[in-house]
Amino acid sequence: MALKVELFKCPKCNNHFYEEEKADKCCAPKHCEDCGKELPYKWYRTVCEPCTERRKFEKARKMTYDEYLTEFGNNMLVVGGDNYFSDMDSIIDHYYGEEEIPQYAYGTEKIDIKINIDSAIENALENAYEDAEFSNLNKLQSFIDEWNAENGLTAYAENSKIIIWIPREEISNA
Ligand SMILES: [Zn+2]
Ligand SMILES: [Zn+2]
Repeated sequence: MALKVELFKCPKCNNHFYEEEKADKCCAPKHCEDCGKELPYKWYRTVCEPCTERRKFEKARKMTYDEYLTEFGNNMLVVGGDNYFSDMDSIIDHYYGEEEIPQYAYGTEKIDIKINIDSAIENALENAYEDAEFSNLNKLQSFIDEWNAENGLTAYAENSKIIIWIPREEISNA
């Protein structure tokens, strides 16, 4: 004979649980591991946004812009996750007269954007007979290498391991 089971429902999302405690905890507010503030609903990290940034900040190497140029020349600067600047002067110009001037920027790392011929070759051979192969692939590859060297693009992504101080006094005195 079938047995009756008791289920507990989370009042917020209607998920069902066998244990009352789990249903209670399901959508109950969670708190930031570092500062104890209540985390937003459906937040999947264990720390809040400002504490995430603080942890990132603490782990990063900090340097002046001159040190950054010497070690990582020809890179960009990133402020607040998505504002990319080509140099410190652009940051100073951008924030001139603003009330809130950021204290630091992150460095970037370069990503080469190139044509990858391997996947094109694979594609082309997909409809061929079994074990089909192109000849003269070396020639094609050296042509592509040459083409990439001339026409390849460079993208920049935030390098969260490097922090560059923004000379805020230069902005307020500019
Ligand atoms: Zn729930
Ligand atoms: Zn926090």
